[in-house]
Amino acid sequence: MPLPLSYINPDAHLLNLLLQDTFDLDLKDHLDPEARESLVTGPSIEKSIAPLRSFVAEPMRFGRLFLAGDAAHIVPPTGAKGLNLAATDVKYLSDAITEYYAEKSPAGIDHYSQRCLRRIWRAERFSWWFTSLMHQFPETAGFGQKIQEAELDYLIHSESASRALAENYVGLPLNFGE
Ligand SMILES: Cc1cc2nc3c(=O)[nH]c(=O)nc-3n(C[C@H](O)[C@H](O)[C@H](O)COP(=O)(O)OP(=O)(O)OC[C@H]3O[C@@H](n4cnc5c(N)ncnc54)[C@H](O)[C@@H]3O)c2cc1C
Repeated sequence: MPLPLSYINPDAHLLNLLLQDTFDLDLKDHLDPEARESLVTGPSIEKSIAPLRSFVAEPMRFGRLFLAGDAAHIVPPTGAKGLNLAATDVKYLSDAITEYYAEKSPAGIDHYSQRCLRRIWRAERFSWWFTSLMHQFPETAGFGQKIQEAELDYLIHSESASRALAENYVGLPLNFGE
C-alpha cells in the first residue's frame, strides 16, 4: 500500500491533524474492511504537533546527579524508542543503586552512563535515519528527494535492507554490549 501523504509530508500531516474528517479517512485507509466498518470515530480531545529532534546529554551522570529517560536523551518519535530507552535507563540505574547500598559497590553507578549510552546512540542513529526516510524536510529537494525515494525503494524491495530495519525496530536485548 502506498504511504499516505501525511506520513511523508509534515505540512500535510499538520493539515490532517486540523481536519478531523481527513484524519479519520486516512486512518480507515490503513484498516482491513471488517475493522474499517466497525470503527467508531468521535471529535478529538487534543491536537498538537510533536517537534522532530535528536539530543543526547552526555555523560548521564554529574556527581551525585543521574539523568534518565527524556531528561538525558530525545529521539524523534518515528522509531518509537523514547519510552523503551527510558525504561532501560531506569532498570540499569535501579540495579546500580541497589548494588551501591546492598553490596557497598560503586561499580554499577560508575558504569551507568557508559552502559546506557551505547544503546542510546544505536537508537538515536536508527530514529534519525528512519525519520529522515519517512519525512520531507524543507531543505530536502531535488537530488535529496530522489535519494530518499531510492532509499525507500531499496528498503521495500531488498530483504537485507528490510532485515536491517526489522533488527533495529524490535530493539536491543537488556544485556546489549556486555
Ligand atoms: C506523542 C508521543 C508519542 C510517543 N510514542 C512513543 C512510542 O510509541 N514508543 C516509545 O517508546 N516512546 C514514545 N514516546 C516517547 C515517550 O513518551 C517518552 O520517551 C517517555 O515517556 C519518557 O519517559 P520519561 O519518564 O523520561 O519522561 P516523562 O514520561 O515525560 O515523565 C516525566 C514526568 O515528570 C513530570 N515532571 C516534569 N517536571 C516536573 C517537576 N518539576 N516536578 C515534578 N514532576 C515533574 C512530568 O509531569 C512527567 O510525569 C512518545 C512521545 C510522544 C510525545
